[in-house]
Amino acid sequence: MQPEELVIISGKGGTGKTSITAALAECFPSKVLADCDVDAADLFLVLKVTETQIAEFQSGHVAEIDPEKCHHCGHCATLCRFEAIVSSKKGYEVDARACEGCKVCVNACPHHAIEWKEAFCGLWKESQTTQGTLFHASLYPGAENSGKLVSFVREKTRKKAVDEGIPLVLVDGPPGIGCPVIASVTGASIILVVTEPTPSGYHDLERVLVLAKHFQVPTYILINKADLETSYHKKMEDCAAKFGATVIGQLPYSPLFSKAQQKGQSVLTAFPTSPEAETLRSIAALLKQKMKMS
Ligand code: SF4
Ligand code: SF4
Repeated sequence: MQPEELVIISGKGGTGKTSITAALAECFPSKVLADCDVDAADLFLVLKVTETQIAEFQSGHVAEIDPEKCHHCGHCATLCRFEAIVSSKKGYEVDARACEGCKVCVNACPHHAIEWKEAFCGLWKESQTTQGTLFHASLYPGAENSGKLVSFVREKTRKKAVDEGIPLVLVDGPPGIGCPVIASVTGASIILVVTEPTPSGYHDLERVLVLAKHFQVPTYILINKADLETSYHKKMEDCAAKFGATVIGQLPYSPLFSKAQQKGQSVLTAFPTSPEAETLRSIAALLKQKMKMS
């Protein structure tokens, strides 16, 4: 059985996406979680995490010159289109951050002085949490390839769900609309966009909806901090309709989310009888209906 996959994204940071993801997670009894915000993973802050597995993620290869074998002819530096090979007092060296791993220099060096090394861009982790298994990751500072790392985390999460017959994969997606977000939403069953009624929230919502429509994933919108600026509600509903999406609910600006986070809990655990918790339960029930889950 293929699991359903609910991906929660926001377009921009600071909308409360992660707090909402943590709270919604409690409404689905059986799921595997993925934190795909690999640049700044923070779901673990509200889920009491114990890491059970941790490993480096290989993102590709990088060239490395062996100074013992190099004859300083400069042929490789001339061929490298990415200007990744530089000459210094120590001789020719590869700038690993600039190397695109095309392998041209490795093949061209007449003295076989260039090695082809595995490159690692970050760590991936499997953890046990108060809400079940969580896969998450962190990019090394300055590392790229976050889209690949996101795809890897999603794959791990899906595999766990398939292997164990778990019906839902719940993904906390990265902010923005770049490569990591595309890697998060392709092939998803359903997207929930958490937005806020501000000029930047509206602008980013529009961009995210373009993306969701392109990938033809059914999309629902939760307006968080809805009382900040009510004049945006109608605009957001119109924008949703234009892209075939639906506003599924709204939450007021609430200090309970940060209070819960300070306790290392979701708002459902910390304040289970609050109106915020009630609203989130209703939204989760609607999402279950949309995914035809019991
Ligand atoms: S082509 Fe080979 S020998 Fe020539 S500078 Fe580059 S690494 Fe050194
Ligand atoms: S592998 Fe390609 S990009 Fe990297 S240093 Fe060699 S020629 Fe340049």
